[in-house]
Amino acid sequence: MEVDRSFAFVDLCGFTAYTEANGSSVATQLLAAFRLAVRDIASRRGVRIAKWLGDGAMIVGVEPQPVLELLLEVEHRAANNSLALRHGVTFGKAILFEGDDYIGSVVNLAKRLCDAAAPHEILVGPDVGLYVPPWGQIDDEGELLIKGFEGVLRRQRLELRTMEHPVPDPVCGLPIDPELAVALALDDDGGPVVFCSSACELTWRSSTAGNLF
Ligand SMILES: [Zn+2]
Repeated sequence: MEVDRSFAFVDLCGFTAYTEANGSSVATQLLAAFRLAVRDIASRRGVRIAKWLGDGAMIVGVEPQPVLELLLEVEHRAANNSLALRHGVTFGKAILFEGDDYIGSVVNLAKRLCDAAAPHEILVGPDVGLYVPPWGQIDDEGELLIKGFEGVLRRQRLELRTMEHPVPDPVCGLPIDPELAVALALDDDGGPVVFCSSACELTWRSSTAGNLF
């Protein structure tokens, strides 16, 4: 069965060297924290972790935008960690095989983009740019050469938009300018609360409603 899906790969750069330098106990703690963060973000944003890959993860979404939001959020959270993340993301048709395995060049390309990414870089494939949230942007850095995809790729990096007056989203912590917020609310003192997505708004509203009881 052929399906439209967004595929992302994210991994910890230099995990093997980090393990050798710091010992397996410190390294596995870092890995556990990474997995916990990805799990938390994926479940809030309605995105599936297709598989864990040692020091990385493969992520699948029906819609590309929540996948892009996940990558921006996990990158933002890990920006000051001792190990940087790198990411690759695509959108397109793949074959869904036996219910849980995806096959196709769009899957391979996401992996290759992740491998080609520099630390902290989120590289996006063709047709992903249309799905960037309003507080994100894509920088085009020219041609990108990846074997098997010659002549079709640009080095396109997904980033947070530069914002004048960003306010942290209380759920995910992403800095969002109120003008670019997907949803807004008022806190108990009448101050503005900004959200990057309806997923974060929903989480915030259900937790504040929960406080009433
Ligand atoms: Zn958010």
